[in-house]
Amino acid sequence: MLENVKVVLVGTSHSGNIGSAARAMKVMGLSRMVLVDPQCSVDGQAIALAAGASDIALNATVVSTLQEAIEDCALVVGSSARSRSLEWPMMTSRECGEKVATEACQHMAAMVFGRERTGLTNDELQLCHYHVAIPANPEYSSLNLAMAVQTLSYEVRMAHLQLVQSHYRQTQPDDYPRHKELEMFYEHLENVLLQTEFIEKDKPNQVINKMRRLYNRARPEVQELNILRGILTSIEKRLSQIGK
Ligand code: SAH
Repeated sequence: MLENVKVVLVGTSHSGNIGSAARAMKVMGLSRMVLVDPQCSVDGQAIALAAGASDIALNATVVSTLQEAIEDCALVVGSSARSRSLEWPMMTSRECGEKVATEACQHMAAMVFGRERTGLTNDELQLCHYHVAIPANPEYSSLNLAMAVQTLSYEVRMAHLQLVQSHYRQTQPDDYPRHKELEMFYEHLENVLLQTEFIEKDKPNQVINKMRRLYNRARPEVQELNILRGILTSIEKRLSQIGK
């Protein structure tokens, strides 16, 4: 899913910011960086600040316009510290993380970041479906570019982990055998225990009930129950060989 998230940096002028942004992305599992009309190159400074994430900066796609960067994206979010005169659907960084992580399951999504000095132009912001503002100190709300990338990438990761976890939770019950399958197992167990003469027919005992309690507590999954059934079958096979 995270492979479908693009981080688009528009008109970046400090190469160190490209390196730091690459690092910020990689620690959060993002890998697609796009540079729109960069005012610097991926130089030694960028590589130094990227640390182990220089691959992301070096593999960044370079294009000349924002349109080119987002042409394959079905969701585009533009980040801006200032609220502009422009009336546009707004999101907080948390909402942005949720939206981007969710939509990235289906299609390409972009988070767009502006120039260090001037941010994104109104024209660029109008190419975005939503604007996101990190709810910072209103008296000093402008983060360093790479730190803004870090904050939004972190939110995407948190939302992504949440999605994966809730998906896992939803699929959990499927992993457990149905009641009927468990009953068949207990029947099988009883049959084998009768054959091995661990228990005797028509003699009341608590063994099967106690075994029910034990397996109930252990709550075997489908695969584990299959193994138990396989063990019982292997005992039966061996018994019939001995019997011949
Ligand atoms: N002086 C510029 C800010 C540039 S900071 C301005 O006033 O627009 C560089 C980029 O970091 C911004 O374009 C934006 O993409 C991102 N950024 C910085 N602070 C942010 C915040 N509080 N919320 C969202 N994005 C932010």
